[in-house]
Amino acid sequence: MSQANTKPPLIIVNTILFVGLPILAAVLVPLWGLTQGYSYALWAWAVLFLYLNGLSITGGYHRLWSHKAYEAHWGVRLFFALWGAGALQNSILVWASDHRRHHRHVDDNDLDPYSAGRGLWFSHMGWMLREYTTNAEDFSNAKDLMRDPIVMWQHKHYVAITVFMNIGLPLLLGLALGDVIGALLVVGLLRLVVNHHVTFFINSLAHYWGSRPYTDTNTARDNGFLAFLTYGEGYHNYHHIFQTDYRNGIRWYQWDPTKWMIAALEKLGLARELKRVPDFRIQRALLDMQFKRAQELAQGQSEPALTAILEREYQLFTDAINQWSQLQAERYERHREQLGDALEERRQQLLARWEQAALRDRFRELEISLRDQRKRLQQLMAQWQLQPIAS
Ligand SMILES: [Zn+2]
Ligand SMILES: [Zn+2]
Repeated sequence: MSQANTKPPLIIVNTILFVGLPILAAVLVPLWGLTQGYSYALWAWAVLFLYLNGLSITGGYHRLWSHKAYEAHWGVRLFFALWGAGALQNSILVWASDHRRHHRHVDDNDLDPYSAGRGLWFSHMGWMLREYTTNAEDFSNAKDLMRDPIVMWQHKHYVAITVFMNIGLPLLLGLALGDVIGALLVVGLLRLVVNHHVTFFINSLAHYWGSRPYTDTNTARDNGFLAFLTYGEGYHNYHHIFQTDYRNGIRWYQWDPTKWMIAALEKLGLARELKRVPDFRIQRALLDMQFKRAQELAQGQSEPALTAILEREYQLFTDAINQWSQLQAERYERHREQLGDALEERRQQLLARWEQAALRDRFRELEISLRDQRKRLQQLMAQWQLQPIAS
């Protein structure tokens, strides 16, 4: 393949930023450190800046603006717009529009701007260095964002804001701490380069390395180690199937500082309408994958006893799904009835509350049944892999 000749031209500014800055950091930061040294205060400021940039990208650019996983007070949006610009990953409008395309056309080499199918380097940062057709600006998928004055203000003044956040603020900090060059190098340059690469991991490594418990229809992976580096975005398999959920790591113990920040903002009255995918749908996705894997295994082995158990379990699974859909329809119907009759408002309200509680219980029962089934299936597969069932 003569790909070298057909590659689109380099984008000079991006090449300087994404290739030049890391080289500069790798040379200057240790050089100044060895000759002059850095104070602990500088390192602490650099970590603080790193988190403010990172969380503004994950909580703001990503979960708030790209996916509308919640709504935020204008003060919060302004904060994310400023610190997100400081991450130097383009404006909210460009970023979110690209990202929506990534979800819609994930792994499609012709339409996904950072398709994992084009290799690790391409999805990490190669995609930003050349004028690829997949980078063509098209905001038709971001009309809602164009109505947000903060988004448009940031888009218009992006260069000035990012220069101030990356050079102006570290400069002021350096003046205050009495170490201007140290602040520019550690809080400015090094922090920027580190944040770039950890957030780029979400597009590259999180599509290569990890497990696929929820879906295998795309390359996105769940990876706890990457979640630690990426402010919680490493649970990328979950995120690609349930992109409007404000959480990526849904278990309480899964490292997702972005979800903790959003939940804290809600407690402070600064965020609302946090979207959570119902547990039943999560269990259903997990079970779907389990059945798929179990059936593949059973087919390969032609084991009639196992096939029979799996068929029976699958029947229970479809029954639960049907019951759940029926409950959903019932809930919708009740809701409409209540809207239709305003006369007996008080009585209706009481009844509705009671019915809602009853419905909730039935939903809960179904969720538990799926959880139990998952455990059963897990045990069955583990046992069977150790010692195949004699038919
Ligand atoms: Zn992705
Ligand atoms: Zn996303």
